[in-house]
Formats: sequence, structure tokens, C-alpha cells
Amino acid sequence: MKFVVALCLFCWTFFITSVLAGSVVTNEIPTLQELTNSAKPNDDQERQVARVAITKKAQAWSERIGNAYEAGRTCWANTIPANTIVAIKYYHPKYSKDAGAWQTSEWNNLTWLKVTPPRVGSVSPDDYWSNIAGTSYESGKVSIAKGFGASTPKITSHETGHATQYHFFREFFGVGDHSPTNSISLMHPNGLGSSFSLIEQGKLKGEKTP
Ligand SMILES: [Zn+2]
Repeated sequence: MKFVVALCLFCWTFFITSVLAGSVVTNEIPTLQELTNSAKPNDDQERQVARVAITKKAQAWSERIGNAYEAGRTCWANTIPANTIVAIKYYHPKYSKDAGAWQTSEWNNLTWLKVTPPRVGSVSPDDYWSNIAGTSYESGKVSIAKGFGASTPKITSHETGHATQYHFFREFFGVGDHSPTNSISLMHPNGLGSSFSLIEQGKLKGEKTP
């Protein structure tokens, strides 16, 4: 099953690739020597070598978790009927600020350490990674997360805006099926506007961009 890339904080819009993304390591746990060296003074060459090695391990750790989450989400989405809006509590602790369980303590002594989990920008590995409000899957499937209060109707409109793609021909709103980031509209990647812009309304009516 193919899925739309429309996962929103609204949508996951940042496809930032770390230079260490795709890291493969045999052991994700830093050695004592690496930890010791990583704390050496700024000008110590071993410090940089150790920090790169530890970052590579942390990156592999974050990708393992993120990829497992994505695989799980795909399995889960397969159980949703087409053309359905589903309310869920949260997507994953690391991808939901309000889940209450995002805090991990694998890397908490390394305040300099940053990773780029799948579809997420640079974050501290023990922090929450993203705060996904809603998703739009193929076949008009939409899921909305709990915990966004008064923004929930807007999130729902944004996600169903994506879902229209499966019911009639329309142009994409823009890159990633979002309007440009300088727009104040409902299909802005972070849903900055409270309603569909005139351009968005036109696309929802099937109009082609002049
Ligand atoms: Zn979106």
C-alpha cells in the first residue's frame, strides 16, 4: 500500500537528512573510552572523533526507533477503512509531545548530542522528536491526534484537504501537497491560516494553476 506523505504538525514537512543519516553500527552503546574522550577540551582532536562516533550510534538508535514506528504506522493504517476519520490518542511517544512518555534517558548526559530521526529535524535524542497532529493516508483515510484542543477542527480540515486528492483530480497544493511556506493558509505546512486560501479553494474546485 502506498501512503501519502502528509503527516502533519501539522504535517511532517521537514525531510532533513543528516550527514550521518543511514548510519549502520554494530553496537549502539558508546564505549567508555568514547564517552571519556567526548568530554575532553575543545581543542582535543580525540574529542571530535569520539563525538562523531557517538553521534553515529545515537543516529542509528533514533533511526531504528523511527523506522519501527513508521512500519507500525503502516500496519495500523491498513486496518482503517477507506474514507474514514479516526481519532487517536497519540502516534508514538517520541513523536507526540503530549504523550507523557517521550522522555528517555539513553543519552541524557550528552547535552551536545543531536540526531535527525526519520522525517524530523535536528533534535536531542532523549527529547520528543515531533508533535504530530494529524495524518492523511491514501484512500481518504485521515487520523487526528488528541491533545490539540481548539486547533483540532483546523487540523481536521487540513488533513481532509489532503484527502480530497483521492476523490477527484486536483493539483497538489504545492511541495508535499502543502501551500508555500510564505502563505498564511490552511494548507500551509503548519496550518498557519484558519481557512483555505483563494488559491487553495480553486484547486479544491479542480481549477488548474494558470
Ligand atoms: Zn499537511
